[in-house]
Amino acid sequence: MVSKIFEVLLEIFEHNRNVLKEKGWIVSSENSYEWWDGLKSAEEIIISAILVQMSRWEIVKSKVEEMRNKGLTDFYRLYNATEQELYDILKGINFYKTKVKRLINISKIIINLGSIDKFYDRKLLLSIDGIGEETADSILLFAGHKPNFPPSEYGRRVLSRVLGINIMKKNEVKTLVEENLERNVYEYKLLHAGIVTVGRAFCFIKNPKCEDCILKNVCKYHLEKIHRDTK
Ligand code: SF4
Repeated sequence: MVSKIFEVLLEIFEHNRNVLKEKGWIVSSENSYEWWDGLKSAEEIIISAILVQMSRWEIVKSKVEEMRNKGLTDFYRLYNATEQELYDILKGINFYKTKVKRLINISKIIINLGSIDKFYDRKLLLSIDGIGEETADSILLFAGHKPNFPPSEYGRRVLSRVLGINIMKKNEVKTLVEENLERNVYEYKLLHAGIVTVGRAFCFIKNPKCEDCILKNVCKYHLEKIHRDTK
């Protein structure tokens, strides 16, 4: 039953690529890095996944672009940059000084590993300061192209309403998806992108915009509300 709903959601997201694209999500293939608002590489995905924690995406995006223009999205260059150089660029992002230290530490780890591919190890990622489950799984899926579904607050809210169940913790989203949808990198990317798009564009905590939502025909929350209103 749940697996069938995931298949339906994937079909809807596939048919509404324009809506996802408007929100910055381009999921074109399993191995593409072109997914997150114009970011272009595994390095940019890793850096932005650290910077975006408790910060606005719009600021993070502009800072990553500034780093790219200065060659600092290359981990060798990043590791050799001074903290002050990075502070000057990243000032404005919440907790930027802590995040600079984390980025330098990550650069060091990747350089010591000798290959970015060795970085895509969930146990390793979770042992690094500043990388929790959501960040780890986002990096694994979108930069490493590994079939790990990222838990997220958007996922918890949207899937609770669509499925008509009470998902208490965002970690439960990961389990629900991975137990009911065969591990497929492209489908996991599309499902995550679609859920985050719906969460940001329509499924607000208060007063969700159900009439405009691309999931309105399959969402239990919405269908039950219509049923109640017509009684
Ligand atoms: S139909 Fe409404 S409740 Fe359901 S996912 Fe869309 S916005 Fe959220």
